[in-house]
Amino acid sequence: MDEPARRARGGARLLKYVSTRGGVSAIPFHEAILEGLAKDGGLYVPEKLPAMDLSRLDENAPLATFATEWLRNFVGEEDRLYADLPEICRAAFDFPIETVALDESLKVLELFHGPTAAFKDVGARFLAECVARLSPGKPKTVLVATSGDTGGAVAAAFVGRPDIEVLVLYPEGRISDRQEMQLTAWGRNVHAFAVNGSFDDCQRMAKEAFRSDRWSHKGLLSANSINLGRLVPQSIYYGRAALAHARRRGTPLTVVVPTGNLGNGVAAVLAKKCGAPLARIILACNANRGLTSFFETEIFSASPTVSTLANAMDVGDPSNLERLLHLYPGSALLRQELSASSATDDDIRAAIRAVFDQYGYVACPHTAAAFDAAKGVAGDRLIVATAHPAKFETIAEPSIGRAIEVPESLRALFSAPRMTVRIASNLSSLERAIGLS
Ligand SMILES: *Cc1c(COP(=O)(O)O)cnc(C)c1O
Repeated sequence: MDEPARRARGGARLLKYVSTRGGVSAIPFHEAILEGLAKDGGLYVPEKLPAMDLSRLDENAPLATFATEWLRNFVGEEDRLYADLPEICRAAFDFPIETVALDESLKVLELFHGPTAAFKDVGARFLAECVARLSPGKPKTVLVATSGDTGGAVAAAFVGRPDIEVLVLYPEGRISDRQEMQLTAWGRNVHAFAVNGSFDDCQRMAKEAFRSDRWSHKGLLSANSINLGRLVPQSIYYGRAALAHARRRGTPLTVVVPTGNLGNGVAAVLAKKCGAPLARIILACNANRGLTSFFETEIFSASPTVSTLANAMDVGDPSNLERLLHLYPGSALLRQELSASSATDDDIRAAIRAVFDQYGYVACPHTAAAFDAAKGVAGDRLIVATAHPAKFETIAEPSIGRAIEVPESLRALFSAPRMTVRIASNLSSLERAIGLS
């Protein structure tokens, strides 16, 4: 097939991914998934952004169909996963992603109808379907640090899969009770570790393991949003929502993204860079003000993590900032197309109340930060709802003064026994706990 014909079909023969630090050679999609972090310490990004033919995409098609067509642009025709994409997407995206209109110019993109009631299911399930098809039979270990929701989504996506062991590190006492339930209820090939420290400590430990020779025989795989296999599928829903809106209204949409490690925000950037009609991307942070200060001052300095009500966004040093800066080499365009804001815990509580009073809609604390960030923003706005409020009932229920109905997937875990091992915030504690020292 010649190149124009190929482009008309929406595919590209050989798409490659490079490191943000430029120190490794370009590799295909499936290899980037298996590697996670690049050997030079950078994160994988597309060597060249795919030239998408958006006119071919049907936003009214079933989610798995749209996802397949969208992802063909990121997974080149010659990639080992290309032929399996329809099957991978059918298995991964078997739950709805819905847009709810609150008024003429304000909509909510509900990403929490998956098995663990948070948007992390999207990336985790896609990643698991890919990994299961890559060198089956070879033992692998998924090591994941979680600020609350990643671990649950990854555990649910990988539980029971042969030859894959899952190790989840989470900051003890800094996640909600129901989040903890989703990390510790699985058993079988899933092992949870309560780390006496912050999410950044957990992330540091995971990164150290990836660099360590003592771990090299374990076939380590990362399932954090540094993994391209989680990031890329998250661009699907931005593409779909933006197309739906632009085709109906004729105007581009501004998305407001609850932001912590910046994976979901960078996924929105990927969609926009590929032509999805997005006006602006607003990064809604909590009291961890690193990104917000960066947009104000052009200087980023990592700061210690502050615990907030929106705990899945408690990140002092967002990994994906490196990807963002790679995608925007100049700061002028970055500031034109993106902005960041911070909500305090009081802002979050106030937003939960205000949104409930005004629309009868119940937001989780993360989504509430996005509602707060959207105040006073002109044009049509899409609030990205990243978790079901029932996961954070101790925060949301007092704010709205009534009980929140619990989704079936969550309820099923209430009675499961919890299994967790408490460790100190250093890698050797984890190594001792799994008998690797
Ligand atoms: C992980 C998470 C976030 C933050 O997403 P990032 O990709 O880390 O920026 C926001 N809200 C919820 C509910 C989450 O689980």
